[in-house]
Amino acid sequence: MSNRLGIILLIMILVVFASAVAIAAGEVPEHDHEWDTSTWVSDENSHWHGCTVYDECEAKVDEAPHTGGTHANGGICSVCGAKYQDHGNSYEVSSYTTTSTKHIANYKCKFEGCNEVYVGEEEDHYFSPWERVDNTKHGRTCYDCSYYEESNHTGGTHANDGICTTCNFQYQEHGINLESIVAYEKNAVGHAAKYACKYAGCTNVYISESVLHEDTNSDGNCDACGYALPSSDIEPPVGIITLKNALITMNGNPGTKNNNVTLQISATDESTITQMALTNENSRSASDLHWIPFAEEIDWTISPGDGLKTIYLMLKDEHGNASLSFVE
Ligand SMILES: [Zn+2]
Ligand SMILES: [Zn+2]
Ligand SMILES: [Zn+2]
Ligand SMILES: [Zn+2]
Ligand SMILES: [Zn+2]
Ligand SMILES: [Zn+2]
Ligand SMILES: [Zn+2]
Repeated sequence: MSNRLGIILLIMILVVFASAVAIAAGEVPEHDHEWDTSTWVSDENSHWHGCTVYDECEAKVDEAPHTGGTHANGGICSVCGAKYQDHGNSYEVSSYTTTSTKHIANYKCKFEGCNEVYVGEEEDHYFSPWERVDNTKHGRTCYDCSYYEESNHTGGTHANDGICTTCNFQYQEHGINLESIVAYEKNAVGHAAKYACKYAGCTNVYISESVLHEDTNSDGNCDACGYALPSSDIEPPVGIITLKNALITMNGNPGTKNNNVTLQISATDESTITQMALTNENSRSASDLHWIPFAEEIDWTISPGDGLKTIYLMLKDEHGNASLSFVE
């Protein structure tokens, strides 16, 4: 190799080296751009045509923002074909479609500003426990979709003290109503009061302890329950019969015997005398007696014939104590 050739080579090497240094520093040599209009170059916002002379040439032509991207086309630019929008299911719920038993989640598209939704699976509501709303209702809410429903308390009975079997609220007030005695249980000795339950419509009763009958007004009946008490009066009435105008009737007109007399009866008893029965014979049995209401005066026919006559009088008080009186 001659010196001259060596110097030329050295100069060429230096030129190439200098050129490489200049390009590496971003200083592309001055040139006429040649545009590659068959290929779009793009970044996330826009597209353009680039220069083909130097790879390092950053000159752009026809630059414009991407356009035409939609949810339906997946966010592709209709000019350059670059995907510049990121649509897809964000799994962030935007709303729920609900029925009384189910909900369906509607998820947002993850591309901000896109209003399209992804419809999820139909699922049963995930309800909170029932809670009291007021004295008649309980309600619950779906934890996911906030669907709310109400219904009436139910299952309350006298036996469970009126507690709703769904929400446990005591919505019925059962208990003894001391104002309302519906009946008495009675026997010869005493009575027990039956009280109504204070919950309207409940037919259960409360029975008090038995107490003795009491008759403070002495009408023969228990003041509270009305039971007819056995009387302490065990004595029969005492009575006297007299003949009204006996001398005239019996003796005043001999020859025309008058068997019709008027009897006057005076009788006493601890209780009220209620009935009497009269007979001319002492042989009649009690069942044959003709009982009539007690009266202090009564017309009577003596048995026919002469002689000493006897009239028998039976008296009975309100307790059935009976006595026999007679007049001759
Ligand atoms: Zn260029
Ligand atoms: Zn584009
Ligand atoms: Zn979208
Ligand atoms: Zn729900
Ligand atoms: Zn309830
Ligand atoms: Zn009750
Ligand atoms: Zn009583």
